[in-house]
Amino acid sequence: MTARSDPPHVVVVGGGVTGLAAAWEATGRGARVTLLEASDRFGGLIRTSPIDIGGTPVPIDEGADAFLARVPDAVELCAELGLGPELTAPTTGHAYVWVDGRLLSLPGSHVMGVPLDPDDPATVALLNESTRERMRVDLGRSGPGPTTDVSIGDFITERLGREVVDRIVGPLVGGISAGDVDRLSMSAVTPQLADAAARGDSFVAALRHATPTTGTERPVFAGLRSGTERLITALVDALDERSADLRTEEPVLAVTAGSTGVQVRSSTAVLDADGAVITTPARVAAGLVDGISPSAARELRSIHTTTVVLATLVFDTADVPGPLDGSGFLIPRDTGLWMTAVSWGSSKWSHWNDGRHVVLRVSAGHAGDRRAEEADDAVVLAALLEDLRTTMRLTTAPRSARVTRWTDAFPQYDVGHADRLARIDLALRQDAPFVQLAGMSYRGVGIPASIRSGRAAVRELLTPR
Ligand SMILES: Cc1cc2nc3c(=O)[nH]c(=O)nc-3n(C[C@H](O)[C@H](O)[C@H](O)COP(=O)(O)OP(=O)(O)OC[C@H]3O[C@@H](n4cnc5c(N)ncnc54)[C@H](O)[C@@H]3O)c2cc1C
Repeated sequence: MTARSDPPHVVVVGGGVTGLAAAWEATGRGARVTLLEASDRFGGLIRTSPIDIGGTPVPIDEGADAFLARVPDAVELCAELGLGPELTAPTTGHAYVWVDGRLLSLPGSHVMGVPLDPDDPATVALLNESTRERMRVDLGRSGPGPTTDVSIGDFITERLGREVVDRIVGPLVGGISAGDVDRLSMSAVTPQLADAAARGDSFVAALRHATPTTGTERPVFAGLRSGTERLITALVDALDERSADLRTEEPVLAVTAGSTGVQVRSSTAVLDADGAVITTPARVAAGLVDGISPSAARELRSIHTTTVVLATLVFDTADVPGPLDGSGFLIPRDTGLWMTAVSWGSSKWSHWNDGRHVVLRVSAGHAGDRRAEEADDAVVLAALLEDLRTTMRLTTAPRSARVTRWTDAFPQYDVGHADRLARIDLALRQDAPFVQLAGMSYRGVGIPASIRSGRAAVRELLTPR
């Protein structure tokens, strides 16, 4: 972008973590920033609110409670904001999957659910001998990898067998993205699997090669002691100090060409700026750019989404059977249960554990199951309590319960997603070079990827051309 105003004026659309990270990057580069958020709060999908635990209100996340620490973006941003001392790590990374009516450990070593050792005891318990024999055959395989994008489910079924998909990869990867692994793009959703596959020869050996040796790695995940929303409040405070103009309850209605580059029309104002970063979900972005780039808008509309409902439940410890010695468990798709994952929150986070109560976070809803989305809260709670009775033998009522609905929150990166993004980028470069897209709809659904995309969009925008 060749800025016409000095300093350049950047409008950020959306005040989730992507938009705030974009504003942070832009102000750090000397730009003047106006950020417009449609709702009455900043944070978007990140929200932490108190829930009653034994008479004490404890801040518990309603959405993300952790972020990847092995990739730098979120941890580095926390450090820049002075949040380093508030970072913490889950007490355990051990997780289970509910198979054949019982909880079985996930394999000791795996990459996105693909086991690395056919003879690992947990793998032996989960997979039958013929599947493990296919892993051994793969370990001796020579030959090329796939040359086009494939679905995660199709590739792993073809290479290692359906059981690996149904029992491990599907519950894990399908759980993270609330999607259907038979439709999700291997290259866009699980690039580490796609890279290993693309090397050719043995898929499992390539994954082993790319996996850090046990014992030398840092914690995989990090969290913030007072909840993930702490990152949002810290960003807002720091941006206030940099005099960024942050506005809530001001939805953007359209982004068009303007006298200095871009014109952003909101519910109450028309802003001229040198560039805009749109961080809303793709379907909203489509409506905003329709006037300047109909072809980008058309592609954006085809990124569909799924809904997740998350129940936070507090029980008396004495009422909950089992040692809860892990972070929780996953549910394969063919069980008929509503729940897709149960996080044993008070086992995972020591700051949620008062020794007398158990905090569970139970997720429901995915690409092939809209029951929770369509039912009211009471029906969802009843179904999830019934599922907890089935899986954990938990028969009492919770002391506290909260249901959070994340409607159309999870973008689905179907096969061909990367090609679609390339077409969108090309269309915008031609039609609206002063507009950048960022956020979870495009290149990664987690917090680190969202932050990375917001900051990268600003760098791209402010690079002189
Ligand atoms: C239940 C759940 C669990 C999750 N767990 C994890 C996890 O454990 N780890 C992890 O890393 N990630 C997790 N995520 C994903 C993570 O929350 C997202 O990657 C991240 O919050 C996305 O931020 P964003 O800013 O891109 O999008 P959003 O948070 O959706 O922000 C977009 C913003 O744009 C605003 N907006 C929409 N339309 C307009 C408009 N017309 N004008 C102005 N503003 C507009 C919206 O109100 C919203 O505030 C989870 C998500 C959910 C829902």
